[in-house]
Amino acid sequence: MDDQRHAARVPGDDRAGARAGPRRDRLHHLQPAARGEGAYRVPPDDRRRDRPSRGRARPLTVLRPFTLHRPETADEACALLARLGEDSAAYAGGTELLLMMKLGLLRPRHLVDVKRIRGFGEIGLESHLGPRGPSPATAGGANSEGTRLTIGAAVTHRAVERSALVGARCPLVGSVARHVANVRVRNVGTVGGNLAFADPHSDLATLFLTLAASVELVSPRGRRELPLADFVRGPWETARASDELLAAVRLTPWAGDTAAAYVKFGVHERPTLAVAAALRLDGPVGAGRRGGDRIVDARVAVGCVGPKPERAAAAEACLRGASVADLEDAARAASDIAAAGVDPADDLYGSADYKREMVAVFVRRALGIAAARARGVAPATRFPHAVVA
Ligand SMILES: Cc1cc2nc3c(=O)[nH]c(=O)nc-3n(C[C@H](O)[C@H](O)[C@H](O)COP(=O)(O)OP(=O)(O)OC[C@H]3O[C@@H](n4cnc5c(N)ncnc54)[C@H](O)[C@@H]3O)c2cc1C
Repeated sequence: MDDQRHAARVPGDDRAGARAGPRRDRLHHLQPAARGEGAYRVPPDDRRRDRPSRGRARPLTVLRPFTLHRPETADEACALLARLGEDSAAYAGGTELLLMMKLGLLRPRHLVDVKRIRGFGEIGLESHLGPRGPSPATAGGANSEGTRLTIGAAVTHRAVERSALVGARCPLVGSVARHVANVRVRNVGTVGGNLAFADPHSDLATLFLTLAASVELVSPRGRRELPLADFVRGPWETARASDELLAAVRLTPWAGDTAAAYVKFGVHERPTLAVAAALRLDGPVGAGRRGGDRIVDARVAVGCVGPKPERAAAAEACLRGASVADLEDAARAASDIAAAGVDPADDLYGSADYKREMVAVFVRRALGIAAARARGVAPATRFPHAVVA
């Protein structure tokens, strides 16, 4: 483990640059702040406002000094979190955490970097039928009951997008990863950070519900596994204890005779609404299929509109037994049920009534796309301000 003391400046912090003079280039927020290296500390008497020389004062956007711990094992990391308590936070890509710190909403003086922890950066397969792990016969990509895809907490969205294993086992996860945030966030933002932050506007938390996701948590007391639906409790709230780390998320790939779609809508950086739909048929899906028309299992998850993403169980029930060739009535009924079941609030993304209306529209669209894919025909995928995966 190596601990490093850090101080920081951020773009737009004129004062820091001015004081640093010729050593300005060294003031990156992750460089050691050794004496004489040009590191900048916010003076205690000037912490409330960052005053530019002209114009009105703007909110302070300077990171306060912190110590960065870089453990290599989960035990070490958890021990640090337990010892440092509320003065510490797990740190992965920092896309959420550093923003919160710059805004002064979080003020940990110790960051515990999880990216070096062994296993946290890996994607693999795991059998949950027995202790031996995946057999070589199933490890290559064929769908097999009982084998789960494990994505380490420190795996970035970009790595998910590029993973051949994800593409083979849970292709929709790879496609959705391609549409998370922007490329800068995807390059450093992690799956674990996304789930642990529990922002209600999460693509991953929504999609993963349809893959029977569970999370693995590790702490000084050992490891435990929790369904994702229980882990995320509400906006920015999870079941994670303060000395626990999210180690990985496990996904159960759909059976081969499943067709699926993910549709998200939004006009802001983060999605306003997201719907994941998966339809399992009684026979093969896709081009060249024979037979397989009835829906034997349906999964629908709605995210971003309520306090947390939810499966729409009643909507799923009304889809079972329906024919994908003639899904319109069942899809309409299911989308109305899904809309009635969400718990939206009025906020900057729209009014509760608007969101409810949009849920009905987008559940219907997602089901239509999944049904078209099941039948092997090209679905309509162009909708204003929407992304289809
Ligand atoms: C501009 C922007 C646009 C975005 N758009 C989208 C979008 O379209 N869809 C979407 O789904 N998401 C979106 N996001 C969210 C993005 O996916 C997350 O910011 C990112 O995945 C968080 O990961 P991180 O590694 O940066 O987390 P950090 O910022 O490092 O951490 C976030 C939180 O999780 C905790 N944490 C991190 N790792 C662990 C761990 N292993 N165990 C326990 N706690 C941990 C930290 O303490 C912190 O509280 C967007 C974010 C931004 C900034």
